[in-house]
Amino acid sequence: MNKSKTRMTKQRKTILRVLRNTDTHPTADWIYERVKKEIPNISLGTIYRNLNVLAEMGEIMVLDFGSTYSRFDGNPENHYHFRCERCDRVFDIDIPLNRELNMKVNENTPFMAFGHRTEFYGLCPDCQKKNQT
Ligand code: ZN
Ligand code: MN
Repeated sequence: MNKSKTRMTKQRKTILRVLRNTDTHPTADWIYERVKKEIPNISLGTIYRNLNVLAEMGEIMVLDFGSTYSRFDGNPENHYHFRCERCDRVFDIDIPLNRELNMKVNENTPFMAFGHRTEFYGLCPDCQKKNQT
């Protein structure tokens, strides 16, 4: 797909705005429910199709945590995530990317790494509190 020729349709703009206005890394179903309020006749299939196009355009990121459904991120810049194993929410982790990790791969293996994706997992602050009571 030619990136420069991909049009930003009204549907696509609405989906992008909904996604950029949340930090919850929602599923396609969640995005569908929100977008439907503005574009009532839109289908879930159209949402999926547009999410894939937006990802190809580099406007959003698809997060695949090996679960049955993908989550979507309105921030396309590489950053780390934390998934809570109890409530299944996904959070941004605001620490610098570990560039040494790429170098370790480049120096110790025949591969040339441009980047890496990392998912931390464990308990979020809310679920840690619930653990104590
Ligand atoms: Zn949690
Ligand atoms: Mn994120």
